[in-house]
Amino acid sequence: MSSSPLLMRLLSASVGLSHRAGKIIRDIIKTGDLGIHDKGFDDLQTEADRSVQRCIIGSLQQHFPKISIVGEEDLSYDSEMQKFLEKDFSQDVLALNCPDNLKNVKENEVIVWVDPLDGTKEFTQGLLDHVTVLIGISVNGNAVGGVVYQPYYNYQAQPPTTLGRCIWGMVGLGTHGMEKKSPPEGKNIITTTRSHSDPKVAGAITACEPTEVMRVGGAGHKVLLVCEGIAHAYVFASKGCKKWDTCAPEGILRAMGGSLTDLHGNDIVYRLDVPRPNLTGVVATLENHDWYINKIPEDIKALFAAPS
Ligand code: AMP
Ligand code: MG
Ligand code: MG
Repeated sequence: MSSSPLLMRLLSASVGLSHRAGKIIRDIIKTGDLGIHDKGFDDLQTEADRSVQRCIIGSLQQHFPKISIVGEEDLSYDSEMQKFLEKDFSQDVLALNCPDNLKNVKENEVIVWVDPLDGTKEFTQGLLDHVTVLIGISVNGNAVGGVVYQPYYNYQAQPPTTLGRCIWGMVGLGTHGMEKKSPPEGKNIITTTRSHSDPKVAGAITACEPTEVMRVGGAGHKVLLVCEGIAHAYVFASKGCKKWDTCAPEGILRAMGGSLTDLHGNDIVYRLDVPRPNLTGVVATLENHDWYINKIPEDIKALFAAPS
């Protein structure tokens, strides 16, 4: 195990932790008290966001003390930490060969981006299938892999079946837990926010000539809709999405051959000296990325000027 390359150990720990995170979220729902706290306008935090972040970041710090980890919530880590052992790492991940270009990555090149619960607003409204746990891995500023866990995947299935789904991937290694599927021909389904819209968000969508708009919660959830061919594109002309919202989904989408960029078609840079919000917006597709970038009007793009 300790002989595996750093990125494989990190991915295998992240997969194991995402399963534990899913259980924490489901257990908190069962208590009936979400412990909702308002961090500001349209930005909620619950006990699930707090407990899951403590679990994921506390555990990753214990196993990878030299790696930088950025989490959405502002928390301390000195209590409520359950022991996460190496035996809980995903053996499926460790069994795979690390892509050659990532074999020698060092701790100081890696940042892990954690959104303990993406889609909190929808979570508090009972839209449980919009919720994901996001653990993204960047190397030298690029999203190279990640884990997206859906704690309530299958929760309305009849007959009832296993609850929860873990999707993980790494560029050069592929994606596991989900089949890549092209979106339907003859349609143009665009997914976007349901709770953080404004005229710019709406204007960019309209310009992309959708045949249907899917307004759902969570950046993780929306990128998965793109990965599974349920939507053609996720378009978000807003500064509201943060690096922890996009890193994990981008790693998985890129591992499938898709693209996640800003509104200008530029890569999102995952470094500590870059602002946490994605100030130049987000566009994610499996195919025809440039078509969407070209459709977004210049006057909207100008409101999201790329930093010089
Ligand atoms: P949504 O598509 O609205 O679920 O947003 C995707 C992610 O970005 C979620 O983590 C949201 O909390 C975050 N987000 C998007 N827009 C905003 C905003 N205006 N204020 C705060 N967070 C936002
Ligand atoms: Mg989020
Ligand atoms: Mg969150």
